[in-house]
Amino acid sequence: MAKDKLNEIFQLQRELQLALGHDFDRMSMKRRLQYIVYMSYALEDEIHESTRETGWKPWAKSKHINIDAYQSELIDAFLFLINLMLAAGMKPLQVWRGYLKANHKSHERLKGYDGVSTKCKTCKRDFGDAGVYCTPSRHVSYRKGLQRVA
Ligand SMILES: [Zn+2]
Repeated sequence: MAKDKLNEIFQLQRELQLALGHDFDRMSMKRRLQYIVYMSYALEDEIHESTRETGWKPWAKSKHINIDAYQSELIDAFLFLINLMLAAGMKPLQVWRGYLKANHKSHERLKGYDGVSTKCKTCKRDFGDAGVYCTPSRHVSYRKGLQRVA
């Protein structure tokens, strides 16, 4: 059920981007990288817009969430996150599996996580993350995992 909804969301967003002239199947690497920069900035901006709908500032007296506007901004942010996933060639099933893995990892961290011992001392990336070939005794350049997005 949830996977079906995610499939639908990805399909609708892909169609919308195609209508806007962003064809992920034929996009050059130069255009893809430019698209990623714009979508990343838009995602960050939507997150900031969402926080403006809350009383998050510790120095302000009002502690509130303007819930309808806040939820609307989160949906906007979600659209840009999906655009980034589409630009990265990700599929709904991959997102679902990746989420499950990250969720499991987070639960494992509840048992004791120091934020240091599971990361490379040189590049600071987590040994368990996809595309990281570093070991506790050896850093491996990220270039080993470089791929062109199909
Ligand atoms: Zn490393």
